[in-house]
Amino acid sequence: MEDISEFLKKREAEGSLRRLNAASWRRNGKICVNGREYIDFSSNDYLGLANHPRLIERAKKALDEFGASSSASRLLSGDLELHHCLEEAVAGFKGKEASLVFNSGYQANVGIFACLCTKDDCVFSDRLNHASVVDGILLSNAKVFRYNHNDMGHLESLMRSQRDKYRRALVVTETIFSMDGDRASLKELVELKKRYDCGIMVDEAHATGIFGPGGSGVVEEEGLTEEIDLIMGTFGKALGGFGAYIAGSGEMVEYLINKCRSFIYSTSLPPSVIASDLAGIEMVREEGSRRDKVLELARCFREALKKKGCAVKGCSQIVPVIVGENLKAVKAAKVLQSKGYWVLPIRPPTVPRGEARLRFSLSADHESGVLERLAYDVSEALV
Ligand SMILES: *Cc1c(COP(=O)(O)O)cnc(C)c1O
Repeated sequence: MEDISEFLKKREAEGSLRRLNAASWRRNGKICVNGREYIDFSSNDYLGLANHPRLIERAKKALDEFGASSSASRLLSGDLELHHCLEEAVAGFKGKEASLVFNSGYQANVGIFACLCTKDDCVFSDRLNHASVVDGILLSNAKVFRYNHNDMGHLESLMRSQRDKYRRALVVTETIFSMDGDRASLKELVELKKRYDCGIMVDEAHATGIFGPGGSGVVEEEGLTEEIDLIMGTFGKALGGFGAYIAGSGEMVEYLINKCRSFIYSTSLPPSVIASDLAGIEMVREEGSRRDKVLELARCFREALKKKGCAVKGCSQIVPVIVGENLKAVKAAKVLQSKGYWVLPIRPPTVPRGEARLRFSLSADHESGVLERLAYDVSEALV
């Protein structure tokens, strides 16, 4: 076993020890920590839906009607008609035949790969894919080939040399990357997966609600719904709720219900959560102006940072500024916090060594004037 106090000391010395920060409240793009109010740039509530009266109302109604818990897994008595309503709504939203709700994105990803692959199969996975994807692949025992981030040349060379050695192959990518805020080359991925006879699954955790004419995600925006076998996404980010889903064929969903351990062996989400998730989807479909606003704010903020000479990445509502050293990122975050911005340093192992960063999650609740001032304050904090 690892020496626990050694571990903690080492983390402290490298500036990578993490601590929890309890807020007394958070809403409308703001957060209150230790009695002080900050503008919140660390939340994934991109559309400002988490505190919307419509979501709250629906959750309350379900609480009154069904109680606080679903009290069993879906395959026992924890399966309400409400869960099926949500799954139908997700399937419609994603343009797929069916969907299955999971208790969280982590649980979806950690369970699904073991259903799709065995030790005779392989997975091609973007090097920056989320930890839940990495862990899910490990649990499947499939051989994993991690290709350099968004590097289609590298992916193709791996496919060319490795594909034939395995029975089945799966390509997996996030569509909007959580730590870099950039976008997968989905069209090229689809071409490669066809050429080398692979399945493809995408994680739209950060794209859902933000991209696409109907707010469904990058898959919708690029017109690739048919070509992508499995679309995974979460409710806990732009949709303002909690939980996750996988959308695909009806046969796939039936298979997962019978096979997926992280689905089967867990109490299902409480009715109040399911009800607000449903309202979140409705709002995304009805109010396209929210996603237009957050993307426009992000575009202006990115431009302002670039003008000030900051090393900014990505092309979405997630705006990372690369700082490099852990301690420098920690210090810059402290300076920004002292000015009233709730910004946290993102350090290894969440991102590669030497690429510690400040990550700004924008929200439709933010104001453009604040972002202009913030861009200036960021450049000052980094000198
Ligand atoms: C947040 C996230 C998850 C996990 O979803 P939860 O519902 O928070 O467990 C999975 N994949 C990606 C890319 C994410 O950003």
